[in-house]
Amino acid sequence: MGNINLPPKNHVKVLGGQGWVGLIDQLGTETSIVNAARVSFGKIKDEMDDKDVKLLSYLIENKHTSPMEHVAFTFSIHCPLFIRGQWHRHRTWSYNEISRRYTDVDMEFYTPTKIRQQAISDRQASVDSPDFDDTKQKALIASHNDTSYKLYRNLLESGVSREQARGVLPQNMMVSFWGTVNLNNLLHFLELRDSEHAQWEIKEYAKAIKQLIKPVIPSVASYFESRGQGW
Ligand SMILES: Cc1cc2nc3c(=O)[nH]c(=O)nc-3n(C[C@H](O)[C@H](O)[C@H](O)COP(=O)(O)OP(=O)(O)OC[C@H]3O[C@@H](n4cnc5c(N)ncnc54)[C@H](O)[C@@H]3O)c2cc1C
Repeated sequence: MGNINLPPKNHVKVLGGQGWVGLIDQLGTETSIVNAARVSFGKIKDEMDDKDVKLLSYLIENKHTSPMEHVAFTFSIHCPLFIRGQWHRHRTWSYNEISRRYTDVDMEFYTPTKIRQQAISDRQASVDSPDFDDTKQKALIASHNDTSYKLYRNLLESGVSREQARGVLPQNMMVSFWGTVNLNNLLHFLELRDSEHAQWEIKEYAKAIKQLIKPVIPSVASYFESRGQGW
């Protein structure tokens, strides 16, 4: 039996190796997209040719999105709780997550590898300040993670239920979940989360997803690359 807290074979590490995202299942190919677009003509093909690549670009360009829904991916994600909160705002994904009502094993806590300072002009953003010595702050965060975990264990040992004791665990707790999404909704997620407006941590996951799916949808990736939207 596998362990959902361990990365699957095809995965990309993020957050300095503390998090990861893995591709565990997929449905359809780029050929499925162009075939779906051609269903209206009653014609399908087995392989992509140059015309199909052009058709694919046309579909993306003109927001003809439904053919994209015939390609879907399932990812296994290991991320801090605060990133899971942002991720689950994307309602068009289907999710299943490890439950801390059931299990209290394999608990890990994120300690940022680099502390960013609060941005002044943009209230939701942070800034990378190379001169900022973050040694003390990182140690304080690690210590808080550790103290919270010890309190959690003490509560469990005194008979408190898992479902209540988990309330003392910090937002830095790592969680594991599965997320399934079709390509149309995934492209929307990637646009929002691999963006200068997104938090650095979730951006790391969005970039990792691009890396994982590029071999499956190379023409879609090169469409965005050719328009200067990094893939
Ligand atoms: C940089 C950034 C900052 C953010 N800051 C905040 C914040 O401060 N506070 C906050 O609460 N959220 C915030 N969010 C979350 C944001 O408001 C969205 O909830 C999140 O990005 C998911 O986007 P979505 O709804 O388009 O995606 P999905 O939920 O995947 O939906 C995809 C699309 O489907 C359609 N759709 C889905 N569900 C419905 C529905 N019920 N009704 C109508 N149409 C629907 C919409 O067209 C939607 O765009 C932020 C997001 C980003 C990227």
